[in-house]
Parts: sequence; structure tokens; C-alpha cells
Amino acid sequence: MNFIPISQPSIGEKEIAYVTDAVKSGWVSSLGKYIDEFEKHFAAYCGVKYAVATSNGTTGLHLALVALGIKEGDEVIIPDLTFIATASAVKYIGAKVVTVDIDSDTLCISPDAIKNAITPKTKAIIPVHLYGHPAKMDEINKIAKEYNLFVIEDAAEAHGAEVNGNRVGGLSDAGVFSFYGNKVITSGEGGMITTNNENLCRKLKFLRDHAMLKEKRYWHTEVGFNYRMTNLQAALGLAQFERIDEIINKKREIFELYKKHLTNVEGVKLNFQATWAKNVYWLVCLEIENLTVEDRDKFILKLKEKGIDSRPYFYPVSEMPIYDNSNTKVAHEKSQKGINLPSYFDLSIEQINYICKSIMEII
Ligand SMILES: *Cc1c(COP(=O)(O)O)cnc(C)c1O
Repeated sequence: MNFIPISQPSIGEKEIAYVTDAVKSGWVSSLGKYIDEFEKHFAAYCGVKYAVATSNGTTGLHLALVALGIKEGDEVIIPDLTFIATASAVKYIGAKVVTVDIDSDTLCISPDAIKNAITPKTKAIIPVHLYGHPAKMDEINKIAKEYNLFVIEDAAEAHGAEVNGNRVGGLSDAGVFSFYGNKVITSGEGGMITTNNENLCRKLKFLRDHAMLKEKRYWHTEVGFNYRMTNLQAALGLAQFERIDEIINKKREIFELYKKHLTNVEGVKLNFQATWAKNVYWLVCLEIENLTVEDRDKFILKLKEKGIDSRPYFYPVSEMPIYDNSNTKVAHEKSQKGINLPSYFDLSIEQINYICKSIMEII
């Protein structure tokens, strides 16, 4: 009854009203006013000219790679610590996944590691703004410019995060967001690609809709996809988007409460925020010094016994048998000692107090 989940969407009157309106309108598939509105407002929010809604974040990443012309035989550099979808999208196009190490402060891709991994076959970098903290985009863009590489931000976990006051999604060739149920804001399932490049936007919309020619219906000059978002998803997404400031502020408050309790506990580290960054704290991160994988799993089990859900950091992509091994020390180290804690909008102060007290007891 009293189990505290790690994540849970905040669905209010506005969400119910918009979705109801969308269903009643009859525009239940991928045409409708909510899609246009959601795209328009989301683009403005990220400070870009265009946004293209997709069926989810993974299809968004895939579509962006295809539209940028990345293909079989090319190499794409990604951080070793990320959700698997970053790597899957690269695999879909037959390109080689090159996993590199992360920085221990931001948990995001290390610019130095990118430099060391570049070969003549490298075509793109996908920095991931992990757990709500942005990657070092200034340095990454500099490297990309020097070597003539595309940069696609995987911003699936970082809606509203900022680098020097500029929002993610507008800091490179394209940004990709996810609106899965546990993300900063949700549309049920859904994704969004942001860009300032008009040609790229046109290509994305073309490929998203079966690559059907605008001038000639049911005529196709290449293989496209059905990666469209539905008007129902967009209705939920737009309602959530209109509350994004409220939701992010709450996430930042939740983090501060955790910090107040846990900051002085020995051997414990929480999320970092660089001086140049705004972290949206998608998930609260707890790292415990000298924790083995066995200890970590026991810790998670003990929390569960106390009615508290938590989850380990992602495994390094390079650990999976289907990907090449890589020498990524920081990613491996962080992966084994990191735990994510409940971080959702409706979490109460009492619940956070209880979670922190439980953590201190277990430690
Ligand atoms: C969630 C997530 C994705 C994929 O998004 P979906 O909408 O679930 O397909 C991609 N990258 C990262 C880093 C994610 O966290």
C-alpha cells in the first residue's frame, strides 16, 4: 500500500481535459491540432526553429541518424554509460557503436575520450544529457567542428536542462527527447527531434511518414518509416509541457531536500551541477563509496523491504555481449556504485524524510 515508486507521472485536470478533447474530436491518429501545437511550443522552448514529434525517443534517434545520412560502415561515438536506446539506434542503421568514457562529475561523455576515439570513419557524436545534467556541449561542438562531425544530443532525460543559459536540444545539429511515462514530462510514449536546420526538418517529416512524396500521394522514392506521434499522445504531451516549469522546479526542490539530509553522510555523493549548467535532476543519483555490485544489489533489496523503490545506474553499453568491449574505467566504476532514488512530482516531504532516514540506517 505504502510502496514509494521511483517514478510516477503527474496527471492533473489539464491532462485529462486535453486527452478527452482529442478523443472526442475524432482526430485520434497522427493528424490534429495537438501535434502542431506541441511541436511549435516545444521548438520555441528549446530555442530552435523546428521540432518534429515522433512515436518515441528511440525512433527519434533512429530517424535523426537516417536523416543526417549516417549509414552502414560509419562510426558513431556515444558515452558508455547510457540507456541502451542510444546504442540501438546506431545499430539500426548498421553503423558501428563506439563507446567512450564519461567524466566523473557530470556522468556525461568525456570530450577527451571523444578525441581519442575519432577515426576517418567517424561521422557523428551522440552526447547524452544523463539523469538531467547536460554534457559539455561547448567542448564537444568544438571537436565536432574540427573533425567535421554531426552532433545529435540525446536529451531524453533532460528536458529544460541548460548549458550557459541555453536549453538542451538547441545546442547541436539535432536534439532528441523522450516522453516515456517516467521521463521529465510524458506523452505516454513519444519523442521529439529539435533542430534549426530547415532541410533536416523537411527530411525528418518526410521519413517519419513513409517517405511519401508531398507532390505525389502514395509515391515513394526511398524506404521510409511510420514513426509519427498520435494526436492523443500530443494532447497529453502538450498538457504536460504547459506545466514543465512547475515540474522542473519541483524536481529541483526534491533534490535539495535529499541533499539537506544526505550531503554530510560519509562516503555518500549526490548529483553534481557544473557552474555552467542547469541540472533538471530527472532522477536523484546516490553514489556510495567502495560499493561492490553485490553490496549495491543488497542495498536496493533493503530499501525495497522498507517499501522504497530504487534502481541501479545503467550497465556500461560495452558490457553487453552484443557490443564491443571498451576501456572505460569511469563508466564501469560509476555503474557499479550508483543508485537512483524516487524523484517524482508528487513525492511528499515526509516521504523524502523517510527515504533519507532509511538510507542512513542501511548505510
Ligand atoms: C528513455 C531514453 C531513450 C529512449 O526513449 P524512448 O521514448 O523510451 O524510446 C533514449 N535515450 C535515453 C538516454 C533515454 O533515457
